[in-house]
Amino acid sequence: MRFLTSGYDADIDQVLNNALFTVDYNEMVIVKDIDFYSLCEHHLLPFFGKCHVAYLPTTKVIGLSKIPRLVDVFSRRLQVQERLTRQIADTIQTKISPHGVAVVIEATHLCMSMRGVEKQNSFAVTSAMLGAFHDQARTRMEFLELIKLRNAIPGVRDSAIPGYACVGDD
Ligand SMILES: [Zn+2]
Repeated sequence: MRFLTSGYDADIDQVLNNALFTVDYNEMVIVKDIDFYSLCEHHLLPFFGKCHVAYLPTTKVIGLSKIPRLVDVFSRRLQVQERLTRQIADTIQTKISPHGVAVVIEATHLCMSMRGVEKQNSFAVTSAMLGAFHDQARTRMEFLELIKLRNAIPGVRDSAIPGYACVGDD
C-alpha cells in the first residue's frame, strides 16, 4: 500500500529534473498508450488502463520519458479518474506553458466489475482539454484521431461506454 500511494511523496520538480528543454518545435507532441494502475478513493479497488497525453509546445518540451513518470506520480495515489486526468494536464500546463494540453484516460474499474453493476467489459473515458485543444475543434480532432480512442483496449471496443465509473460513494 505504501508503494501504491507513493505518489503523494513525489516531488514533481524532482521527477522532471533537467528534462525541460528549450527547442524550436511547435508541432503536436503525443505520448500514447501509457499504462497506469491506480486505486479508486471510494472503494480502494484498482482502476487501470491507458493514458494518452499531447501538448503543443511554445518554447519548451518535456523529455518524453518523463511523461509516463508524471502519470505514475498521480496514479500512485487514491484517486478518481477525473481528477487524475486533470492533474496530469494541469501539471504540464504549469511547467512548460504550452499552447494547449490534452489528456485522455480510459480505464477499467474493478469497483464496477466486482460490485454494483458488474459490467465486466465496460470502461470509463475521461478527458482534459486545455488551451488550443479546448478552443480549436481541428486540433482536438487531430489528437483524437491520432490516439484512435476506441481501438486502444482490444476486445472491449464494442461495449465501451463513455462515462464515469466511480462517482459518489454508493
Ligand atoms: Zn470505486
